[in-house]
Order: sequence, then C-alpha cells, then structure tokens
Amino acid sequence: MNVSFYTLGCKLNYAETSQLQRTFEQNGHTVVPFGQPTDAVIINTCTVTDNADKECRQIIRRALRVSPEAFVGVTGCYAQLQPEEIASIDGVDAVFGAKEKFKIPELVREFRKFDTPQCFVDELDGALDFVEAQSSETDSRTRAFLKLQDGCDYKCSFCTIPLARGKSRAMDFSLIPEKIRHLEASGYHEVVLSGINLGDYEAPSGETFTDVVRLIETLQPRLRVRISSIEPNLLTKEIIDIIAESNVFCHSFHIPLQSGSSEVLRQMRRRYKAEYYRDLIHSIKDAMPDAAIGADVIVGFPTEADAHFEETFAFLHELPVSYLHVFSYSERENTPAAEFSAQTGGVPMHKRAERSKRLRTLSAKKKFDFYRGECGTIRTVIPEQRSAESGLWSGWTENYVRVEFAAPPSLVQAPMQVRLLETDGETVRAVLIDTAAEQGNTLSSAVSHGSYIPIML
Ligand code: SF4
Repeated sequence: MNVSFYTLGCKLNYAETSQLQRTFEQNGHTVVPFGQPTDAVIINTCTVTDNADKECRQIIRRALRVSPEAFVGVTGCYAQLQPEEIASIDGVDAVFGAKEKFKIPELVREFRKFDTPQCFVDELDGALDFVEAQSSETDSRTRAFLKLQDGCDYKCSFCTIPLARGKSRAMDFSLIPEKIRHLEASGYHEVVLSGINLGDYEAPSGETFTDVVRLIETLQPRLRVRISSIEPNLLTKEIIDIIAESNVFCHSFHIPLQSGSSEVLRQMRRRYKAEYYRDLIHSIKDAMPDAAIGADVIVGFPTEADAHFEETFAFLHELPVSYLHVFSYSERENTPAAEFSAQTGGVPMHKRAERSKRLRTLSAKKKFDFYRGECGTIRTVIPEQRSAESGLWSGWTENYVRVEFAAPPSLVQAPMQVRLLETDGETVRAVLIDTAAEQGNTLSSAVSHGSYIPIML
C-alpha cells in the first residue's frame, strides 16, 4: 500500500512523523510524497495553532482531491485532545491518540474508507513509554533532530501540551552515545537535541540534561550540536559554562519568556520571575557575546493589562535577545487561563493584535541589530539549499545567523567558512573564504566539480 504523511506543528512532530514513516515501511508499505496518488494519508496534528481544525480540513480536502478513495487517519496532539471533533470532519476514517500513534499499522487491519470513523484514543494517565524519533530537515542530510525527551510535568496555565502528550519521559542515557555516533556516521553535520520540555530530561537511571550536555561534550562528535528550546529555570550555569567553552555546541539558545511582567508570569504559573530571566540572558551574553538568543512571548494573556504589556515591551527592549517568537494568546479548553478569560472576558482581540504587531516590529529591529553586529565576522555555515531563482546557497551559522552566498550548484553541503558582509535584516550576504592556507584545505574540497573562482576579499 502507498501511504503519505502531512505534519503540522513543532520539530518534534516532524521527528515523530519520520519515525511513523519507518514504522509503515517496516510493515511493508511504501511512503509517497504528500499530494501524489496514495491509498492512505496520515496527518500528524498540533494543538498550538489556533486553526488546527481548519488546517486539518484543508489538508484532508487536498488529499482527497487527488485520491478520493484514500484512507485518512489523524493523530498528534489535536487528535488526543479533541478526538470527537476530528472524527466529525468529513473524510476522516480514524483518529489515533498519543499512545496509539506508533501502532497505526497494527491497529488498522484494512486501510480503506469507513462509513463510521474509528477512534483509537486512550487516556494519558500514568507513566508512558518513551518512543524514539529522529528526522532530517532537508533531504541533504545536513541537520537532524534527535528526540531526547517527551511530555511535560509543568502546569503552565495556558498550555494543553501536558494533556496532549502526557508526563515527562526521556531516552535512556546509555543510548545517547550510539545515537550521536549513528547520526555522525550517517553524514549529518548538525544535530538538534529536541524535546517538549528538554531541560527537564531525567533518564530512568537519574541523569539530568546537564549530564547529557557534559556527555556529548566528552564524546567530541564531528558534528555540531544545537539545543532546541529550553525553559529558563532549567538552563543551569554549568550548561552555560560547558557550551561557552565547547567546540561542539552551538552558541544559540531559544529560551521561552512568555511575559516580562512577574505578576503575569505568576498567573501563567511559570517557574521564574522576570528578573531571573534578565540575569540569565546577561550571564549568557557575558559568557558568549556572539550567542543568538531567541525568546517566545505570549501577548493578550487574560490578565495582561495595558501596564503589564508595556512592562513586557520595555523589558524586551532593554534585553540583549536576538529575535522574538510572538504568539497571540488564544483560549484553550480545559486550562485555568481559559477560565480567567471566561470570567473577565479576556483581552479584546484588537488589543492582542496590536500588542503582537508591536512586539513583531521590535523583534525585526532586534534581529537586524544582531545581524548587523555579525557583519565582518567569519563564521561556519552548513549550506542547506540553493535558490533556483537567485542561484545563492543559504544556511545557518553556528550562532544562528541565516546567510546567503554565491557558490556553484555542485557545492558539497559540508561545513565551510564564510565572511559575513551586509544584511537586510532577513538574511546576511556572505562570501565563501578560502581558508586553505590556515587549514591545509582547499576550496576544491568543498566543490565536487565545476569551475569555481574564489572571491578575493
Ligand atoms: S513548560 Fe509549560 S508551556 Fe512548556 S509544554 Fe510544559 S506546560 Fe506547556
């Protein structure tokens, strides 16, 4: 049987879809790209997006336009939380919860259209197994995502992820070396350590995320390692010190803030105050002045008065973060925050939109300033893709600057040095530099064939 997949949401979902694809392949099925004629479509959903149901409907319509008789299965966080809602969508044949996600080929005996949708969604009570997953972002095997942790034991008042993914659990500590070595041997140049609450990693044998960082540093793999989002209260001084001295870990961090008002943070049930976050960011910048730091912020939380938002704006304005991911608060069923909102009416939608716009503008300015500060430096980039339109290669530096540079289509997608020149705020124009003299290497090692004229600086 041919089966295609569609993923919504976070990187962990993408990693899990890759794992799911492997499960189908092991059961004798063939994975075909989404949009091609197929016998079955599996959609891995997210609950964070506001329009999860709308997106789901659109994807189902797209799939059935090409393959009207295809079996449609929906899994992921939205499926765990709202199975009946999904089952009522036209064209859906089965819904699978978090526990059932990796058992789909065993659960469905015949992949065909059903008159009545089937639900395979169990409650997420008690301990859950950790299911391994890893994925590649591009076909070029430049960057892999390695899932180390799943679920969350925190109780942030706006968030349904703990309900959708269950309790925190982690990969066995003893498996980590072989996973990293395997990715290295498979030719990846970068691995992103991923999880829902990654910093809360706790192995069955008791090791913490600080132990993971120390272990990987000791392994000294030939690929660079990036940490995905980490809660501020879990980013220890020891982790910062290891990364600052490391030639393996990238100087890039993504640290959710959510609000610059300690009062709102308390109502969000976050586990730190604004002052703690400010000190953390300064300590990272003191240790690594070149570090990129991204922050998530939610605007329009039900108790966020105008004064709280202004406090957040001023807080972020002063803080040396490099970019913001801004989310407009939206009510989620079965959360304490949605109850505050029901009692008070919440923040009017137009205010949420205005606040979001102001922070996005601030983010653009911060990113521009960070990129401009990087101009003139020499960084290592892993070329990820080449634009057919401009002919330019693009990729990310170790400190999360998006660069574009000219090089032939035959460029080998391995780490190489570039000098950063100028920026428009979206990307930094760079040139490949010939480091042959210093490194006993030649640019021809980066270019498999074809003529290439190095640009003289
Ligand atoms: S830390 Fe908070 S926001 Fe993050 S997944 Fe857990 S409950 Fe949700």
